[in-house]
Amino acid sequence: MSSQVASIESLKNNPYESMLARFERAADIVKLPEEKREKLRKPAKQIQVHFSILLDNGKERTFEGYRIIHSTTLGPSKGGIRYDQDVNLNEVKALAAWMTWKSAVVGLPFGGAKGGIVVDPKKYSKAELERLTRAYTQALIDVFGPDKDVPAPDMGTGADEMGWLMEEFSILHGKPIYAVVTGKHIHAGGSLGRLEATGKGVSIATLLALKRKGLNPLNATVAVQGFGNVGLHAALFLHQQGLKVIAVSDVSGAFYNPVGIDITDLIVYSQLNNNSLRGYPNAAPIASEDLLTLNVDVLIPAAREDVITMENAHKIRAKIIVEGANRPTSADADELLEYKNILIVPDILANAGGVIVSYFEWLQNSTNEFWNIEQVNEKLEEILTESFQKVFDTAALNRISPRIAAYVIAVKRVSEKKHSVL
Ligand code: NAD
Repeated sequence: MSSQVASIESLKNNPYESMLARFERAADIVKLPEEKREKLRKPAKQIQVHFSILLDNGKERTFEGYRIIHSTTLGPSKGGIRYDQDVNLNEVKALAAWMTWKSAVVGLPFGGAKGGIVVDPKKYSKAELERLTRAYTQALIDVFGPDKDVPAPDMGTGADEMGWLMEEFSILHGKPIYAVVTGKHIHAGGSLGRLEATGKGVSIATLLALKRKGLNPLNATVAVQGFGNVGLHAALFLHQQGLKVIAVSDVSGAFYNPVGIDITDLIVYSQLNNNSLRGYPNAAPIASEDLLTLNVDVLIPAAREDVITMENAHKIRAKIIVEGANRPTSADADELLEYKNILIVPDILANAGGVIVSYFEWLQNSTNEFWNIEQVNEKLEEILTESFQKVFDTAALNRISPRIAAYVIAVKRVSEKKHSVL
């Protein structure tokens, strides 16, 4: 292993080191020369901004924001904007690099970026969030652009924020520029299928993984951690395909029903219950951590980072893990899971459905086209299936894990300046 690889202890708490650990292993395999590694270890551009807005109470407040561009080698940088009180430079740097690898592994002509504002969005009114988004856009007006850097939603942001960003950017340029951002509302230039794209992608990856393991989807059991955008849609699509989703959790708790949970019923319940699963009557409550160690065919962590670690990896009984969340498995648990012969579909492949359909939105905006949902889903499936086969074939050929194989493909594409599918 390269000397650049961090100690196990630092991997746990430092997302950037965790990203680098996987990058260095892939770089060793593709024999990437040191001068190229050096370039890819560090972000191309790191911008920190401070800006003020007027609050509803008439007082002014200053916020801190970031935009980190890791790479533009394969095309304009692409990546979300996060509104969260824990946003910090190290995490945004890591997430920006992940976007480079994620876009590259599925062959998109995009680089990687990420941004964020240190703010708890729940504490601000809609009007304040609009002023915040517009001020952030003004502060980064020279950074964003359809051919330079194209943001998208992330934790704490959604179609409203993307619409305000697009409007502000357009006002400052004196003309509508829809392709500056993706994840917009349909009426503001968004794409059909974008909202559910990540969960849909996770469900496609799950079916491909089951096939790879020789398991029949109609007999397969699934546990899903997280019932937000990714977990809800993944659970729904798999339920619709006839798989038995026997456990689901959100931040309020976990619920288990061995004969399968009716996901459409669960969605209705959660919508009527302030988007919470708390008190769901048609499944038994279980301890949240127990969902991860259930005896299921497929485990889908779709909530947050570092939920599968050295502390619980030895107890995981799932045959397949499909990583809906970003970095749900800490780097120190990789080897043990591999040893246990658990098939892992790594995050940069499993949750790439969102960036793929973001690419479709950017294309539609750039060419003034509007695709129907069948076109979107067909192309999404085609790209994900091709990428999945390439990752697993590369893994088998080189006797490496699918995670490292995904990095190998991505690092190779970026270093050779070759995108693929489209
Ligand atoms: P979200 O905020 O919509 O949903 C998160 C869900 O996780 C909620 O149901 C929440 O209650 C639940 N949760 C939080 N902590 C939990 C815990 N300890 N145990 C169980 N459930 C818990 O977020 P999302 O957009 O669905 O994103 C989830 C993950 O997927 C994140 O890691 C995100 O970075 C990643 N991701 C999202 C997208 C996307 O398009 N939304 C794309 C790629 C990756």
